[in-house]
Amino acid sequence: MNGDSVDIDLARAWVQAIAAAVDQHKDHLTQLDSAIGDADHGVNMHRGFSAVTTALDGLEPDTVGALLVKAGTTLISSVGGASGPLYGGAFRAIGRTLDTSKATPQEFAHALAAGLDSIQRLGAAAPGDKTMIDAYTPALAAFQQQADAGADLATAALAAADSAEDGLRATAPLQARKGRASYLGARSIGHQDPGAASTALVFRALAETAAAAETAATR
Ligand code: ADP
Ligand code: MG
Repeated sequence: MNGDSVDIDLARAWVQAIAAAVDQHKDHLTQLDSAIGDADHGVNMHRGFSAVTTALDGLEPDTVGALLVKAGTTLISSVGGASGPLYGGAFRAIGRTLDTSKATPQEFAHALAAGLDSIQRLGAAAPGDKTMIDAYTPALAAFQQQADAGADLATAALAAADSAEDGLRATAPLQARKGRASYLGARSIGHQDPGAASTALVFRALAETAAAAETAATR
């Protein structure tokens, strides 16, 4: 794990950092979902990533992809809400493109794009529908732009995390057109989307993991 690339250790540390962030922000995610949903997003994410942590414990995969596919499969089988299959499918799609022990930022950008594609194929949401897509799309664009410009992983992931949080904030004035929140119609306006909030955590966890790996490598 040196911060230049996504290797198996970094992928594992990323997933663990997501689990820790979900644990820390569980109540906040549920609060957001109580405003425009059914108040279970924090619980769903927590159940899912706790199961992922357990599933990865002692697992020694040969590739980054195998680890992330395992994470995705575990999310699908452990989370009941809409977010389980959406995130689970995304992690599986990300993993399926990473049949390697070490992915460059460019390769990882390609993998993240496959993840977004999976969410859109399953959930049929477009940008602006007030879903996790509204955090993921700008995060991916920022990551891709940095990777194309030759940035290292930590720099690309930091740009992605900042853009995901911008995307999250921008969901507040939107009216939900997909998922449970869409049942509220105009009453969904004025609240941040819970799934966009958890997606922001996913990208912030990546940025922090990559930064920590880089610092460790230069010490
Ligand atoms: P549920 O809506 O089944 O209770 P969660 O509360 O765990 O599931 O997740 C809700 C989040 O899932 C929403 O905030 C939204 O971001 C995301 N979501 C719901 N439906 C879709 C969809 N069709 N496409 C993309 N994301 C969706
Ligand atoms: Mg919910």
